[in-house]
Amino acid sequence: MISIEEYKIVESIEEAYELNQSKSNQLIGGMCWMKMQDKSIHTAIDISNLGLDTIEEYDDCFKIGAMTSLRTLETDKKLLQHFGDGVSESLCHIVGVQFRNCATVGASVFMKFPFSDVVTALLALDAEVELYKKGVIPLQEFVKMPLDRDILVRIILKKQAIKMKYLSLRNSYTDFPVLAVAVAQTENGIHASVGARPQRAELVKDHHNILTKGITRENAREFANFVANSLTFGTNTRGSAEYRKHLCKVLVARGILALNGDEKNED
Ligand SMILES: Cc1cc2nc3c(=O)[nH]c(=O)nc-3n(C[C@H](O)[C@H](O)[C@H](O)COP(=O)(O)OP(=O)(O)OC[C@H]3O[C@@H](n4cnc5c(N)ncnc54)[C@H](O)[C@@H]3O)c2cc1C
Repeated sequence: MISIEEYKIVESIEEAYELNQSKSNQLIGGMCWMKMQDKSIHTAIDISNLGLDTIEEYDDCFKIGAMTSLRTLETDKKLLQHFGDGVSESLCHIVGVQFRNCATVGASVFMKFPFSDVVTALLALDAEVELYKKGVIPLQEFVKMPLDRDILVRIILKKQAIKMKYLSLRNSYTDFPVLAVAVAQTENGIHASVGARPQRAELVKDHHNILTKGITRENAREFANFVANSLTFGTNTRGSAEYRKHLCKVLVARGILALNGDEKNED
């Protein structure tokens, strides 16, 4: 059970940051993850009064506040219009709608859970994170950094010509993914993000220009093999390393073909 001695709704991020430096205090998001822990917290720090629960559109980017719920991210019309249904697809299997109405984007990204659908999808979209102390850094760098006591304030998604597809395999519909894959065609070429390996998600770019002359079934398979051979896979209760590597080849190839409008491939 979790027990909380004091509850503080802060008036600024600075106040939240100062309080959060004490190991006995803890920032709260939607508390969906924290409530499952056995822990006692001195002060629970609530940033929900700071207007960080919205998605703002600018000329060149979208800024997603840390307290935005996963459900808002999943259903936001502007994001769907700009990035297609890849983000929505990455979120729709997470537990249930009521859960996604509470769980926040900020906590989901900050915690860099190895099984994270959210991180896998946002990596493929070249997302950046705005941290209170460290400033704006690419998510690709952030996922490699150790956890600390900074605060994630916003996620930034640059507007760019991009197509993204998301695929995951789950043993049952709302379980954690056995493997999560997001592929995207960006202004700088095609890349694939692979999470739940079961390590944290990583991005693999088309360094060998396998897909630069266009997408065919053969080169989709070749790129998928390249991605699978560039990453390490592990074994846990959901699947073996060998199975995950095989899934990676299948899901990346399917995603690449889907980018090309070929959704019906049966490989
Ligand atoms: C049963 C269950 C199943 C799940 N299945 C999946 C799944 O299949 N795929 C998937 O991607 N995710 C899954 N998740 C994770 C979920 O999507 C959320 O990421 C998780 O619940 C955290 O969100 P929260 O808002 O509840 O955070 P909280 O529980 O409130 O906080 C979690 C941690 O984040 C810290 N934190 C919160 N906000 C910030 C911030 N802005 N800056 C810095 N630190 C912060 C808190 O201090 C705490 O340590 C699952 C979670 C649960 C409980």
